[in-house]
Amino acid sequence: MARTLKSKELVNTRLATNYGGWMYCDECNENIGYLCYSTYDRLELNYKCNCGSIGSVLLDFEDSKTGRDCEDELTLIKNRWCCPKDHEPLITILDKKVSAYEMKITCKACDNIYKKNK
Ligand SMILES: [Zn+2]
Ligand SMILES: [Zn+2]
Repeated sequence: MARTLKSKELVNTRLATNYGGWMYCDECNENIGYLCYSTYDRLELNYKCNCGSIGSVLLDFEDSKTGRDCEDELTLIKNRWCCPKDHEPLITILDKKVSAYEMKITCKACDNIYKKNK
């Protein structure tokens, strides 16, 4: 089912579709990661691409819940960061393509907000 976006702020970044799929650096056109369409409620991502460009992504939906901060670590399963509680796949960040990143992602299934930095 399609969801209605509330916020969509992309800086130096392109998304393959409206609110998910491959994410590309606008400067060098490299893909920097993959965002799963239906499992997140909110994404805040700031990163530095290997080409030097600094990009960011902010996405949430009309029906997004507030979420609650959580100290648990995301689980990495085949390149994809997943919720440790319900194992929902959330996002892939291609570590080799970015020199640094900071992310906060809310799992739609359990409302936990996970943080990840490099
Ligand atoms: Zn780049
Ligand atoms: Zn979850």
